[in-house]
Amino acid sequence: MTIHETIKEVQEQFKDVLKNARDPLMLEEVKNTFLGRKGKIAGFFSMIGEVPPDTRKEVGKMLNELKRSLNEQLELRYAEFQSEKKQKERVDYTLPGYVVHKGSRHPLTQAVDDMLSIFKRLGFDIAYGPEVETDWFNFESLNFPPNHPARDMQDTFYTEGGGLLRTHTSPVQTRYMAIHEPPVRIVAPGRVYRNEAISARSYCLFHQIEGLYIDTDISFADLKGTIELFCRMYYGKDVKIKFRTSYFPFTEPSAEIDVSCFLCKGKGCRVCKNTGWLEIMGCGMVDPNVLKVINYDTEKYTGYAFGLGVERMVMMRLGINDIRILFENDVEFLRQF
Ligand SMILES: [Zn+2]
Repeated sequence: MTIHETIKEVQEQFKDVLKNARDPLMLEEVKNTFLGRKGKIAGFFSMIGEVPPDTRKEVGKMLNELKRSLNEQLELRYAEFQSEKKQKERVDYTLPGYVVHKGSRHPLTQAVDDMLSIFKRLGFDIAYGPEVETDWFNFESLNFPPNHPARDMQDTFYTEGGGLLRTHTSPVQTRYMAIHEPPVRIVAPGRVYRNEAISARSYCLFHQIEGLYIDTDISFADLKGTIELFCRMYYGKDVKIKFRTSYFPFTEPSAEIDVSCFLCKGKGCRVCKNTGWLEIMGCGMVDPNVLKVINYDTEKYTGYAFGLGVERMVMMRLGINDIRILFENDVEFLRQF
């Protein structure tokens, strides 16, 4: 085999293995086999002494050319691998992104937080009470004597030990006043329970925010001012409010408050049943009997109380007509908030 034929054969071999090298690691092996210190080309150079002296120079030149050519092909292949890698790393903005599941506050929690932050700005402290109550705190202290027909207004869950699940947040009034001297200015948020058939309009549990302000010279005008301010801060400054006479055992006089429909601005729509008004809470001046129970001086102190149903306000605001949605924890629903 002539030197020309040998070189040609090495070139063919090299091309084959280069083609089969699928990654830079295999390329490294090819480089060692052919161009390494103990590689094929080095082997040829070490045998140059056996070549006849008159052709030695020419053979040396050819081997150098072969070495240069193989090196060049290797470099090109390396470059190809580099650009393939970059291609893979390149960000494809048309691909869908990774979904990051983020928790959010439940719409009821959000509403309670929003309302409490308004009341805090109006100078109210926040108070809490237990959900399992005694008959005395839930009814009797609030001017519901035994067998009083008003007890029938609220269907009650009784516990085995003679307690009950509170039917309203009003017992927090008595609990707070029993250990605080006036002035008392609190809001009490929390869950309340009613033994009612579950339907689109009623659920066995819901949330209330109770308000109570007791001091010297508190009048109905203070109550009106506070409620008006709260409604403006919650619904917007153009809101109108209306007081309707009502009855609650623990307030006298009592009223229910309607707010102009924030959806139709009073023109009438589905949510306000075309009346232009939405009922949002009950309120009134605290009945002196309630103050007497915890030995407040009724000659000196007066006050007002109010209670609003959080679910009602959230349902009106979100345009929901089935209360059960708020308790089912359907992720598809909750994800919207
Ligand atoms: Zn409306």
